[in-house]
Amino acid sequence: MEKKDCAAGANCCLECGEPLSGRCDKKFCGDYCRNAYNNRLHVSERRLMEGVNRKLAKNHKVLEKAAGPWSRLSELEKEGFAKSFFTGCRGYGICRTYECYDIRYRIAFGYLMKL
Ligand SMILES: [Zn+2]
Repeated sequence: MEKKDCAAGANCCLECGEPLSGRCDKKFCGDYCRNAYNNRLHVSERRLMEGVNRKLAKNHKVLEKAAGPWSRLSELEKEGFAKSFFTGCRGYGICRTYECYDIRYRIAFGYLMKL
């Protein structure tokens, strides 16, 4: 939508630039403009979160498929596992426990151990 020039001092829609009537704190002429404005404002944040969510979902799928409690980390990484993406962690060093939603695991000496 092309934004119109807003006359100096006038209260205009932040999305389309149409002059607004009614309450002085009104920012948009309607739902369409409010949604369009907010969607554009939050698009980069949403893209970032979608990317992180995709990586977490991939990690979960790889961990679910992993046979046995021990897996070579390099093999999991070939399947798309990204060790820097997890939903929780506790502890320190080789005792650190990671979580990917409902799956808990440890990573040590090039291996991943499901708990
Ligand atoms: Zn508008």
